[in-house]
Amino acid sequence: MTLQFSPERLVTPPKFVAGPSPPASPESCPALVLNADYRPLSYYPLSLWSWQDAVRAVFMDRVNIIAEYDRAVSSPSFSMRLPSVVSLKTYVKPARTPAFTRFNVFLRDRFTCQYCGAHEELTFDHVIPRSKGGLTTWENVVAACSPCNLRKADRMPHEIDMLPFQPPYAPSVQDLHRNGRLFPPNYLHQSWFDYLYWDSELEP
Ligand SMILES: [Zn+2]
Repeated sequence: MTLQFSPERLVTPPKFVAGPSPPASPESCPALVLNADYRPLSYYPLSLWSWQDAVRAVFMDRVNIIAEYDRAVSSPSFSMRLPSVVSLKTYVKPARTPAFTRFNVFLRDRFTCQYCGAHEELTFDHVIPRSKGGLTTWENVVAACSPCNLRKADRMPHEIDMLPFQPPYAPSVQDLHRNGRLFPPNYLHQSWFDYLYWDSELEP
């Protein structure tokens, strides 16, 4: 996720150096990026910016700071706390479908081998093998453990009687939300919770 800056608005932000005795390195302080409607710009992957990108966007007046880390950075003339949540000042039309990524394929398939149900050694498998014209698309790729992947090799599903549990499909954001509640990201800053789905949709 990168900002497209218009050159006429380009200002040079001050050079920042890390503050004294940090509780965390700035690198571990990404900012959650919200659209102008206060929803995450993207869920899959979650829209996060490095602290440098977030600070740059603040200086370019592209975002509002919604929440901050305790962690500050400073230059000789300036000090600021790192933003933990920012919102775009201009609404960006969000992508309708989740990105086709390895992580999102695993999330759609609930991190489960689609041939045997294993959760370990996950790889991804072309249902119609590439050697037989199978494409690398949502509709032809499933999560599979290495042993199943090896066993299937480049045979057609019916040749070896290996059909995926569910026919692969292009998921909606809602599909991934449903599964995402089972597999929340490892790292969620406290200030993000108000803006992410799982605090409001978790079971009571
Ligand atoms: Zn398997």
